[in-house]
Amino acid sequence: MFEIESFNEDVTLVKTATAMEDGQPIMWAIAYLIKDTLFDAGCANALEDIERFAAKTEVNKIYVSHAHEDHYGGCSAFVPRATIYAMESDIELIKNPPTIPEFFDFVWGQPKPVADVEKMPPHFTIGELEFEVIPLPGHGHHMVGFYEPNRKWLFSADAVPVPSRKVIGMPDENIHQMIETLEKIAEMDIEILFDSHRGPVISPREHIQARIDFLKDIRMQVLKLHEEGKTIPEIQEALKLEGPWYLEMTQGRFGIDIFLNSLVFDKTEK
Ligand SMILES: [Zn+2]
Repeated sequence: MFEIESFNEDVTLVKTATAMEDGQPIMWAIAYLIKDTLFDAGCANALEDIERFAAKTEVNKIYVSHAHEDHYGGCSAFVPRATIYAMESDIELIKNPPTIPEFFDFVWGQPKPVADVEKMPPHFTIGELEFEVIPLPGHGHHMVGFYEPNRKWLFSADAVPVPSRKVIGMPDENIHQMIETLEKIAEMDIEILFDSHRGPVISPREHIQARIDFLKDIRMQVLKLHEEGKTIPEIQEALKLEGPWYLEMTQGRFGIDIFLNSLVFDKTEK
């Protein structure tokens, strides 16, 4: 699936997804277009549409927030004309994508290799807009967002969980870091949060705080149960945590146990 949606005079949403049987997207992966620049590039299951879009537009630069396939899977459609920028630790993976598990091949698609990826600069401009590259660790160790302080826009990638009650984790995630990053975002002056899956959230303070409150509360409960000697499965049972229908199909890439293990055993510092 592929949709273009103009948000304001500067920002256009480039939405990609795989359709379910009822025609609804499983989940949108949203890239944001400003003039000749993209923040992320969508998922590879929409590659033919992205290629048609790329042929009609003058995208010269792509800034990739992190090396998950729903964020860089569309990059190959824009090369060689566009320069791709990513954090140094993500460059090799984006150049030579690993074979992704079957379920994620279905949901997002297998990205194609690209010849060149450049190192992310600390800041850049798009016309009169001035962006700072902001580290947003937690969802991924090296994920970044893009902040425009004059407009008070933060392109936050996957830093703010989509569900208000997040109880599943991924192996890359450090939930303590995620909470710290959310608290950092909550203190920033932000009028619009450009989330990679939910889309733009205007005046996002309550949206962010609800997620901080939930995660800190569940962390407290989990750590208390751990101190009482409960194992991870026992903690999951005591808190009656249940995952979504697709959890088994992710073959260990998402898990409630991963989430709980991070809360109990991960350190805050990197
Ligand atoms: Zn991600």
